[in-house]
Amino acid sequence: MGDGITAGRRRLGVMGGTFDPVHHGHLVAASEVAARFHLDEVIFVPTGQPWQKEHRQVSAAEDRYLMTVIATASNPQFSVSRIDIDRGGRTYTIDTLRELRELHRDADLFFITGADALAQILTWRDAPELFSLAHFIGVTRPGHTLADPGLPNGGVSLVEVPALAISSTDCRERVARGDPVWYLVPDGVVRYINKRALYRDRDLDLPERT
Ligand code: ATP
Ligand code: MG
Repeated sequence: MGDGITAGRRRLGVMGGTFDPVHHGHLVAASEVAARFHLDEVIFVPTGQPWQKEHRQVSAAEDRYLMTVIATASNPQFSVSRIDIDRGGRTYTIDTLRELRELHRDADLFFITGADALAQILTWRDAPELFSLAHFIGVTRPGHTLADPGLPNGGVSLVEVPALAISSTDCRERVARGDPVWYLVPDGVVRYINKRALYRDRDLDLPERT
């Protein structure tokens, strides 16, 4: 079979992210890749402390985990894993994939990531091992060009998903400003943000003023 895929094995998508909050861009990307790659399941894996984002305050892991559960609960193909949260410390994708590899020995892994993150992939720790653990699927998001950043042959696929100009950063800024996030995130996530008063009275992820 193509894509280095072995017949008869389960096909597991892995969608890593901070999910602060999870939004419809994440859900559309996961759904589209699941359909195109005939995945049996997509596991959303909220990060522990994301090392790329230490310059800003990230919401509590439990809040990000619960929002991801709320957003995915109605889809029988979607599930949420606590492995990155429970491991503690900084999250590195290599650790996520090693652990999922151990937990799902019968499966081929497909790591789904936005084109923005894919462009940085070669700067990640242990890049060669990453490609041996999973097939990488880069999805387009608005404002990021879908260009092959010179990745190993056969290890990476690029997929265009319906363009959704939604980012968690924009959702947080909207809540902080009092603008609506209805329809950008699932209804249950809007309610959870309100219930827990997330993203209010906090420093936004904006350039520092001098
Ligand atoms: P932030 O603005 O805080 O960085 P984000 O919207 O990028 O948040 P993340 O949790 O950082 O969300 O993203 C998790 C994964 O989902 C990343 O691989 C990212 O590239 C991808 N992603 C985020 N938004 C979209 C979108 N609108 N369409 C497709 N992929 C997306
Ligand atoms: Mg991001």
